[in-house]
Amino acid sequence: MNATELSEKDLQDLRESLLFQKSSILNKTHEFKEEQSNLSSVADEAEIASLDITTNISIHLHERDRTALYAIEKALGKIADGTYGQCEACSEMINARRLQARPFTALCIECMEEQESHSNLFQ
Ligand SMILES: [Zn+2]
Repeated sequence: MNATELSEKDLQDLRESLLFQKSSILNKTHEFKEEQSNLSSVADEAEIASLDITTNISIHLHERDRTALYAIEKALGKIADGTYGQCEACSEMINARRLQARPFTALCIECMEEQESHSNLFQ
């Protein structure tokens, strides 16, 4: 078995893992909303429920969760259109083990290190 390529099964597992991470971030937001809704009327809650959750929760999320949620959505979109696993910077396939460790990574190790070395200049 080639460890640098993802099988259908691997993709399915990664997709499930991404969906799980997504729902745990959204659950956190839901808990936050429940705290807030103690002050709201029933009518307001119905209104909140009718809104598209992924586009409206962002203001309630911490920067880190927001970034993760965005990356997860993007990775799920890539799985759907068959481009998942491709590095966004160099278009090489990202190592399968790296994807399994970080399912919503968008860069291969080389490009990630490259980017980190640049961002260090500003720290
Ligand atoms: Zn790359």
